[in-house]
Amino acid sequence: MRDDKVSKWIQAAKILGKDPIEKVACPECGQGELESTDVDSHLDSVNFERYMHCPICLKRNILRMKRG
Ligand SMILES: [Zn+2]
Repeated sequence: MRDDKVSKWIQAAKILGKDPIEKVACPECGQGELESTDVDSHLDSVNFERYMHCPICLKRNILRMKRG
């Protein structure tokens, strides 16, 4: 179910926000460990974007996160 996967991605982003080296299973394939990168936006000082991708199935997701 699509909503379930979305909520898993959001959960993954939260976990990686607390601890970037935490191992989080890919919500899509359940096998890969997500790699994440935070990217600051020049236009937005409140939010930033967290890029996550799975090295196994190559799915990626970008979530807008609040700073702080
Ligand atoms: Zn995957």
